Amino acid sequence: TETAQAAALEFTVTKNLAAKSPAERDAILADPGFGTHFTDHMVDICWSERGGWHRPRVSPYGPISLDPAAAVLHYGQEIFEGIKAYRHADGGIYTFRPEENGKRLQRSARRLALPELPVDYFVQSLRELVAVDGAWVPSGEDQSLYLRPFMFAKEAFLGVRAAKKVAYYVIGSPAGSYWPRGIKPINIWLEQTYQRAGKGGTGAAKTGGNYAASLLPQAEAYERGCDQVVFLDADGYIEELGGMNILFVKKDGTLVTPASDSILDGITRNSILELARDRGLTVEQRPVSLTEWREGVASGDITEVFACGTAAVISPIGLLKSDEFEDAQPIGELALSLREELTDIQYGRREDTHGWLMRL
Ligand code: PMP
Repeated sequence: TETAQAAALEFTVTKNLAAKSPAERDAILADPGFGTHFTDHMVDICWSERGGWHRPRVSPYGPISLDPAAAVLHYGQEIFEGIKAYRHADGGIYTFRPEENGKRLQRSARRLALPELPVDYFVQSLRELVAVDGAWVPSGEDQSLYLRPFMFAKEAFLGVRAAKKVAYYVIGSPAGSYWPRGIKPINIWLEQTYQRAGKGGTGAAKTGGNYAASLLPQAEAYERGCDQVVFLDADGYIEELGGMNILFVKKDGTLVTPASDSILDGITRNSILELARDRGLTVEQRPVSLTEWREGVASGDITEVFACGTAAVISPIGLLKSDEFEDAQPIGELALSLREELTDIQYGRREDTHGWLMRL
């Protein structure tokens, strides 16, 4: 792990002369949707084996020019993160546990044989983008600026080995409420044909290939009337959804979530477990089999099942569907109450006793 304090980088800032007007921006922020609009600038830092991290820039948002032989286009050597910036009532812009995302990017980098960006540089890169594009952080209910840091192999070389030239970028995309018409329980497809990750694979890394592997199962689930897929491991234990972790609530109040080396170490999940512990609830991270899930729901021992991640925060699961069965899931109150507590902290409506917020 990177522990040494890296000296702050000197970013060269080039302002976007074709930036959106305040009126155009406000029209977008009134109804930003998710992932379709982008701010006026982007951040990038280069890395080379010889020069390390260099040429930090803030530039006008726009297309990236790549050599057709850039390794990422052939071998998928790429990683990314997802983190939000929130506008508080005092006008300030805050983000949530950015060092956790920075450390996770380092773990992903290690697995994908990419260079580890110092966590200080990661946090600084978010600050630099928000410093020029702060006006893009919306202030509406449940709105945020979704920040997408990513890193890829840009060396032009067709041999299969770790690239010696790499690029790191951050872009920002204003995000509306994930649930514009109120939170509704999601239907989950139990995936029994495809797997997203395997033992010793890249499941715990946030790398594009994992998501590429989830697209076909996700599309098939959608055709069957489901919103998301839940993946199993080779032994029938629950892993996670395509882009969210999963948690189970037991009758006695215990919160259980899968322990696995091939799922993403979710920051929302970890925060929820901590809030649950604060409430005096027991928290268990251990393998959960499909049998335990189905029998728990049938017997009433499981009282709630929900998914969580940065984008949607918490979504109750209403139905587990497969080729053989449809299990209605019990709906309780814990998921929504934890959701409210967490978003209250993120939006500055409740005291941040854990020191999770960072002003950008
Ligand atoms: N699992 C996967 C596969 C994800 O893509 C995400 C979203 N980053 C999560 C879990 C939830 O992680 P987090 O709470 O850190 O957003």
